[in-house]
Amino acid sequence: MTPDTHPTFADSTRADLRFIIIGAGMSGILSAIKLREAGLDNFAIYEKADRLGGTWRENTYAGVACDVPSHLYSYSFAPNPDWSHRFSPGAEIQAYFEDVARRYGVDSLIQYGKEISRCEFENGRWKIEMADGSTDVGDIVIAATGVLHHPAYPDIEGLECFEGTMFHSARWNRDATLAGKRVGVVGTGSTAIQIVAARVDEVAELSLFQRTAQWVMPQENPAYSEQERTEFREYPETMAQLRSDISRLFADGFSNAVVDADSPQLEAIHAACVANLENRVKDPELREKLRPNYRAACKRLIMSADFYDAIERPNAKLVSEGIERIEKSGVRTRDGQLHELDVLILATGFRVDRFMRPMEVVGRNGTTLEDAWREAPFAYMAISVPDFPNLFMLNGPNGPVGNFSLIDVAELQFSYIMQLVERVRSGSCKELSASRAATERFDADRKEAAKKTIWQSGCKSWYLDANGVPAAWPWTFDRFREEMSKPRLGDFEMR
Ligand code: NAP
Repeated sequence: MTPDTHPTFADSTRADLRFIIIGAGMSGILSAIKLREAGLDNFAIYEKADRLGGTWRENTYAGVACDVPSHLYSYSFAPNPDWSHRFSPGAEIQAYFEDVARRYGVDSLIQYGKEISRCEFENGRWKIEMADGSTDVGDIVIAATGVLHHPAYPDIEGLECFEGTMFHSARWNRDATLAGKRVGVVGTGSTAIQIVAARVDEVAELSLFQRTAQWVMPQENPAYSEQERTEFREYPETMAQLRSDISRLFADGFSNAVVDADSPQLEAIHAACVANLENRVKDPELREKLRPNYRAACKRLIMSADFYDAIERPNAKLVSEGIERIEKSGVRTRDGQLHELDVLILATGFRVDRFMRPMEVVGRNGTTLEDAWREAPFAYMAISVPDFPNLFMLNGPNGPVGNFSLIDVAELQFSYIMQLVERVRSGSCKELSASRAATERFDADRKEAAKKTIWQSGCKSWYLDANGVPAAWPWTFDRFREEMSKPRLGDFEMR
């Protein structure tokens, strides 16, 4: 069927709304499961890769793990008694998503190798075009395209000259051998720290190129005993309680605190990081190099039990002189020294302002998302953009991000979206998107509130947009939960 022969909205019965889910990562799988549960079976779920899992499919570097406790980083409706550790490794998380998708019967519905290149709102419906030339038409689009998704390559002179093996952490080269090699890692974010701790013992030499020092929270990672797992299996309510306890702990101890730079919780976090640095790093010179000059949690906190031990190994060195350029045999630092390397790993993070892009998204009257977001990405409640009707984002711009479970966020957002979709399904309206006035008000309030957050207390991080404004939910997680419980319908334009 070509797009032109698809029925227009007026022809399609509202009970049979067609949903297009873009992406089969954590939030795309969630969407498919929840739509089926609601009896809304007319949907397609498109995934550009050949496997589900999103970030957990793409990040396969040694040491990859989630620093949110596994019993919280699980769907609320699909607890997993078999998590091996408090913070489980990436491969286990990937297997969890594959298992849940299978158990809930959505894995066979995913259409792989389908990269959506264009979505256009036309005659009240969304016309979808894919890179392979195929098309579809839907009434509702759910963009479950992820945040930490597009690798950011550093703008360092001579990058292309390196003659050893070089790759980005999210594009791990499985053929590369690290054992016995001189390995360089650029970056000191959560990824780099996990790689260093996991690989230091097998490489000949490890050089960690630090541009900015990071605060590190100590985080032990005990394994669950067989007895504990049996208990989780036999008494699922224990797991539910554990999830709820951890969620509360995260909200009170962290997410409700980062939005108030003066909060006592942040002082406690800072003190814990300082104590960790003082107590764990024995070499005083190294300790000073590792000491950040900004407050803890301004950048995303690094959680690690073993990074400080790793960087003190005799075969490890912290290089903080700054990179001048990359040469064919290694990295030249500003002090003139050449650090010769066999392998160079770019743990340099992600382009977090992309969201659905590079997809071309054309809303009402030919407005493109690229144009709308020219200055910076925005969305009312991180979900809806004016003039892009019936298109909803999960983990969209300026939503809650940080050291807590994005699964919780996506679940809350999805139930909010379903309440909006119900307006369309029940016939109250055909087209629904946030009103311009509500979006402008939301954005102004958000920017004002962001001034109080720890993210704007004097550091650079991926939380900040191009104008230096934190692009994250600047209120408490409790407020987010409350907002998501019931949409303010007056803030939406319904036609
Ligand atoms: P990131 O936090 O953005 O860190 C990128 C690192 O690369 C920074 O240290 C940055 O230095 C450095 N860098 C970038 N460009 C550079 C350049 N041109 N020269 C030198 N250094 C450069 O990226 P990430 O570590 O991949 O983490 C991204 C996010 O993924 C995390 O914040 C977290 O949300 C998530 N993540 C989570 C886990 C987990 O356990 N749950 C694990 C990994 C990642 P500056 O600091 O100076 O900019």
